[in-house]
Amino acid sequence: MARLKSVFSWSFSAAEDFEQCRRRRYWSKYAMWGGWEAAASDEQKTAYRLNKMDNRWGLMGQAAERAIMWVLKEHQAGVKITAEQAWNTVARPFLTQKWSESLEGKWKQKPKQFCCLREHYYEQLDDDNAAKREIADQVKLCIENFITIFLPRFAEIDAAQEIRIATPEMSGDSEHFVYEGVKVYAIPDYVYRVGDQVHIHDWKAGRMKPEQHRLQLATYALWAIVKYGAKPQNIFLYVEYLKEGKVLPFQLTAEEMEETRTFLGESVGEMSEYLVDFDRERNEAVLKEEWELALDSSSCRQCNFYELCQPELVG
Ligand code: SF4
Repeated sequence: MARLKSVFSWSFSAAEDFEQCRRRRYWSKYAMWGGWEAAASDEQKTAYRLNKMDNRWGLMGQAAERAIMWVLKEHQAGVKITAEQAWNTVARPFLTQKWSESLEGKWKQKPKQFCCLREHYYEQLDDDNAAKREIADQVKLCIENFITIFLPRFAEIDAAQEIRIATPEMSGDSEHFVYEGVKVYAIPDYVYRVGDQVHIHDWKAGRMKPEQHRLQLATYALWAIVKYGAKPQNIFLYVEYLKEGKVLPFQLTAEEMEETRTFLGESVGEMSEYLVDFDRERNEAVLKEEWELALDSSSCRQCNFYELCQPELVG
């Protein structure tokens, strides 16, 4: 079998990581590469394992999103679902399974297959049951809000209008497009067409960050333009804040579209400065020491890679 090659890629979340801490990009994109192989170094294996690690808020979002997508599909099939049913059928089993996996520790052998939560790994929870209850309350609230506030807006959409999105849970590569020679990952949650219009929705179970989310969805608009030939004036974007029961609907002006292209181009340029000879095709990282640690180390305790950076942070 041909050996996998690390390809230079960009995504909104990778750009955020890179902005917050250069070293984090190094661990998550370069040091981890090949860490799944038996012959990999300890550092590679650790970076790979830590890169796969999740956290409780990420898990909360996944549980809420799985539950509401199930509600939506059932709704399209003519079946009315209550919030309690969605919680008991989808969200609770998912959370229970992931939480147990994290405590059981099978992820040590198979970090890609089994969940490891950062809070367990770094022993950050004082009360496991209280943490579980908090997540459960938030997920239930998201599902209730979705059914009462959001779902009526999707009542007329049928499956034939939907655009299939390749997610990391599916086999094969995740949703992406190629922009000026760069592979760009863009994984919106729910997309459908109405005539020539493309409607792009992103569920948010966490805190409202309108500015940041607007920019994230602007990169999804670029995906719709490049991959589906959508015209900017026909693209409708929606950030759906599940906990608050609010939606931020918007379209991009020509100026904002241009700003998005500039943002992406500049971010790719800055990332390329950390490659040998700026060569994205070769995609070989400069030495680890050249990837700066976070300026503000207070965020390090909330970072998956704390274990790897710790000797330098305390030294
Ligand atoms: S632990 Fe701190 S310095 Fe290391 S990757 Fe994470 S944020 Fe950056």
